[in-house]
Amino acid sequence: MTTIFSIEDEEALVSLIEYNVTSAGFKFAHSSTGYEGMLSIQKSKPDLILLDWMLPDTSGIEVCKFIRAHKELKSTPIIMLTAKGEEQDLISGFDMGCDDYITKPFSPAELIARIKALLRRSNDKEDKMVLVYGNIKMDTGTHRVYCCDEEAKLGPREYRILEFLMRHPGRVYSRQQILDSVWGTNVYVTDRTIDVHIRRLRKALSKTEECKVIRTIRSSGYSLDSNV
Ligand code: CA
Repeated sequence: MTTIFSIEDEEALVSLIEYNVTSAGFKFAHSSTGYEGMLSIQKSKPDLILLDWMLPDTSGIEVCKFIRAHKELKSTPIIMLTAKGEEQDLISGFDMGCDDYITKPFSPAELIARIKALLRRSNDKEDKMVLVYGNIKMDTGTHRVYCCDEEAKLGPREYRILEFLMRHPGRVYSRQQILDSVWGTNVYVTDRTIDVHIRRLRKALSKTEECKVIRTIRSSGYSLDSNV
């Protein structure tokens, strides 16, 4: 049975997560502090970790670093739970290797959709590889992206959008298709949200002309195109 492990100190939130995770057919386990959580996951080796950003004894980032450095845990998918306003720091969390994040308060449907999307991705055999498109290189093992050999810093969503496009270069995707792949289905996100993330992604890839590869197709969506 697939086990979801939550490291979270807000009791009300733990109950909410437990109820929804078990209702969705997963096994649930939990620790309310970072250190206890780190001990516990070494023994139980869960399939996915929901990690609170602000823990009473340490930070989510420290726990994330620990997991990524641990021989047997390093490929465990991690979803970071953050409060509003902490999103600015997320790029550093993503650097430490968290796979996705969700901002509190969130809807149970969104949480479950993210968990399922991430489990699906981590089961995907082609997941850990280097993708190349023109002068852009993406290492899906370390989550690093390089434009003309220089590292480009992307937020988690921008990274996922680029990964999705790089896995299918040249194809045109509608905003809805990008949304389903990156955010998961049953999540309410508007087209505008996608446009905002595309704008951020373009900005991150704007250092050299060769890396400006995201093309807007009028009334259809987006694709990768090295002749933009
Ligand atoms: Ca907390």
